[in-house]
Amino acid sequence: METKPIRVRFAPSPTGPLHIGGVRTALYNFLFARKLKGTMILRIEDTDQNRFVPGAEKYIVDSLRWCGLDFDESPETGGPHAPYRQSERSAIYREYIQRLIENGHAYYAFDTEAELEAHRENAKSSGHKTFQYDQVTRKSLKNSLSLTPSEVSELIASGASYVIRVCIPENETVVVQDLIRGEVSVNSANLDDKVLFKSDGLPTYHLANVVDDYLMKITHVIRGEEWLPSAPLHLLLYRSFGWEDVMPKFAHLPLILKPDGNGKLSKRDGDRLGFPVFPTSWEDPKTGELYSGYRESGYLPEAVINILAHLGWNPGTEQELFTMEELIDQFSLERVGKHGSKFDPEKAKWFNHQYMQKKTVEELADLLAPRLSEHHLSPSPEYLQNVLRLVKERASLVPDLWTNSWYFFMRPTIYDQQVYQKIWQPATSSVIKELAAEVEKLADFNKDSFHDLVQEFTARTGIKMGMVMNPLRLLMVGSNQGPGMMDMAGVLGKEEFLARISIGLENLGASKA
Ligand code: GLU
Repeated sequence: METKPIRVRFAPSPTGPLHIGGVRTALYNFLFARKLKGTMILRIEDTDQNRFVPGAEKYIVDSLRWCGLDFDESPETGGPHAPYRQSERSAIYREYIQRLIENGHAYYAFDTEAELEAHRENAKSSGHKTFQYDQVTRKSLKNSLSLTPSEVSELIASGASYVIRVCIPENETVVVQDLIRGEVSVNSANLDDKVLFKSDGLPTYHLANVVDDYLMKITHVIRGEEWLPSAPLHLLLYRSFGWEDVMPKFAHLPLILKPDGNGKLSKRDGDRLGFPVFPTSWEDPKTGELYSGYRESGYLPEAVINILAHLGWNPGTEQELFTMEELIDQFSLERVGKHGSKFDPEKAKWFNHQYMQKKTVEELADLLAPRLSEHHLSPSPEYLQNVLRLVKERASLVPDLWTNSWYFFMRPTIYDQQVYQKIWQPATSSVIKELAAEVEKLADFNKDSFHDLVQEFTARTGIKMGMVMNPLRLLMVGSNQGPGMMDMAGVLGKEEFLARISIGLENLGASKA
């Protein structure tokens, strides 16, 4: 039997920035497609004009690109099923909704918003279950099922506003096969007659989504669990169109939960709990509110991909760090769990630290470059790499590179007074001066020769190592931070080392005075 080529789509609505849950959906689609040599499609679902946010589509494309996810067909790249923006496909949906009206699977509904509101109020005050437009209530509402054909034609001819609703079949068990959840069944009595086509002439998500998945020959719908309740309706729509035999397979991904496991990780949680929930930062065009992003917080895209890969999928081995190629190779929907995964911000940082360590010093130099030019610094590549080799291990996030290395490029101008008070003794200045005089005479100053000199100096004078090392560190860095003193001295070099001693002693002397 010939197998159909795999085609998957990521179908975001441009209603704001893409939450990491959305990035994960895109990632799993991408991995699935790449693994099975299929096609990955980006479809922009922008038929809800009320929720349209300018800039959101660009944000989605750019932030996914930063993560390393690209598309074979998209509004940007085009493709055999263009256009890929639903707002540009309205004529198509009009044609398909007409088919449903004709075969009795959809109907016109003329109820005004005020009338519907009154029904809702009524249901509430009489203590009944909440009002829904469904197979029971539709019989007594204002629609083409309850009105006569001539009443309907008159209303339409008079320009009355209407929507088109799906006509859910009565009392039928609808069974959806989900690749992750197994069999999900619901009685159609519990489904409402959702609006498929709005009074503004545009389809709702449900109609446009099903029509496009069919026309774009989608084989697998991989999306978040929040869409699972819509799957029975979608299945009924496929059936109503007569497309059941080419219906895509469904895979609903488990939720990403808040760190404490209490509910879905929301857009607001990140900044509230101190970690980003968006791939890149986003400024809300309406409110001007700024949401932080992984990129701006100093995460590497490889790390973000890994964090998300593990939130729902597990490789079934101990391996934690993957390249994109390894993920593509190992990913399968069978290894995606049913249960929500807690987002762990500490683990996220850990992942980033791991990927930072995998970077070469040349790559790290590129990451540090913007900070150096901000400070008008242009160290030699060799010096920069020597510094990075020393501080790399302490860097979890990109900004840590600068916080842990700036003093290699600039002399300290302030000295931590608390440290000073604690370590500086009456004899310290003269001890350091004595040591500096010996360093001065050293022909070949490097980490090892300096180490030997200090060893010899302390042994000879009986001065404790700490009495030498702590003050030296304060003079070099301005605090008690930094890598090993010998390493630091070796990288700074003799001239700079001695300069910092004399400047520091002068400054500290002045501050004391
Ligand atoms: N437009 C929907 C969303 O914003 C797509 C859901 C689906 O993949 O079917 O998530």
